[in-house]
Amino acid sequence: MSLELNQTHDPTLTSWVEGTDDPNTDFPIQNLPFGVYRKTNETEWRCGVAIGNSVFDLAGIDASGTDNLNWLAAAGPSTWHSLRRQLSAALSDKGKEGRMSKFLTQLSEIELTLPVQSRDYTDFFTSYDHAHNTVTLFRPDKPVSANFKWMPIAYHGRASSIMPSGSRIQRPLGQRLSPDRSIPVYEPSAFLDYEVELGVIAGPGNTAGEPISIENSEDHIFGLVLLNDWSARDIQGWESDPLGPFLSKNFATTISPWVVTLEALAPFRHPAVSRPSDDPQCLPHLTSEHNELRGHFDIEVEAWLTTSMSDTPFRLSKTSYKHSYWTPAQMVTHHSSNGCPLNPGDLLGTGTISGPTPEETGCLLERTYAKRKPIQLPGGEQRAALEDNDTVFLKAYCKNPDARRIGFGEASGHIVAARNIIAQ
Ligand code: MN
Repeated sequence: MSLELNQTHDPTLTSWVEGTDDPNTDFPIQNLPFGVYRKTNETEWRCGVAIGNSVFDLAGIDASGTDNLNWLAAAGPSTWHSLRRQLSAALSDKGKEGRMSKFLTQLSEIELTLPVQSRDYTDFFTSYDHAHNTVTLFRPDKPVSANFKWMPIAYHGRASSIMPSGSRIQRPLGQRLSPDRSIPVYEPSAFLDYEVELGVIAGPGNTAGEPISIENSEDHIFGLVLLNDWSARDIQGWESDPLGPFLSKNFATTISPWVVTLEALAPFRHPAVSRPSDDPQCLPHLTSEHNELRGHFDIEVEAWLTTSMSDTPFRLSKTSYKHSYWTPAQMVTHHSSNGCPLNPGDLLGTGTISGPTPEETGCLLERTYAKRKPIQLPGGEQRAALEDNDTVFLKAYCKNPDARRIGFGEASGHIVAARNIIAQ
């Protein structure tokens, strides 16, 4: 159902809502992403859809709402599809303006929160360029691990520190071992980094013991959000051997407020990465004709920085998700392939999205060659690692000549100083 183009994707379709005719809006009527908001000075959270400069309350089409969208994630593709058709009709038909306009609130008059309550969060590692760049930074002779091309590898993250866009990110304290020392210290991280990622929001779950086949995998995906996997590289370097990231990652993960559905992304589907002839072919349970031909998505992703000295945004990263070696469907199938149950609203990060050129690196670790080549900012500052009072915001959008451009909104985080609990 999320595969086919239909009238809701028609690039000539217009809406009566203000702001939808701006060619650069993230939220034309072809997008219709779901989120959770409240009006300024109200306490009640509502479920709505972003449209132009506004949010449309789902109550306007009699869809029930709570303070999160887990109910809608659980409902599955036929409900998502039917809601999208109703919303598209209500917001495009000029005749409905009179009845529907009372369900609109300007985006400038609302607060947004997490779209879903995620019970679990897993972060994958699906970009070969990111894997290659990070491995060779530390061991130029070392290849990417042999399992990378056989399965989408991952670590379990922490759902309790998933934060809505706009949250303050407190610099973590942690253990690190400096190269010039023989014992570790417990101090504020001196190498705080961002990671540009997308997050897959799980739809209907699976029963424990029942893997999700690659053919059914996309029916278990509610949609995609932006995700910043904040990372303390110095803590990570010391703690990760042999079990992988732990406290270097689980202090904060920022996601964007709007869930962009796979149906909205249908015009931007892309073939899976074509594997060079010396790469292994996928094991049968991780591949399908659909996944090879249309299982990936061409989504431009960017990271931007403002600092306490300059509020002119500086672009840190710009790449496309289409370069990643594994698709969302393959992530979901692999995650459940041992019988592990996914639940509606679970968050599955793609891992840092990097592309084949140095400008397409998705984090400072890669971009600065592990602090060896700091970035020169236009105002004269340098950055090899993020500093207190820096703000990092992620953006993503899709465009091609046959479709209306759609965007993901923003996932931002503002870094504040560590709260030092060490006895002085
Ligand atoms: Mn990550």
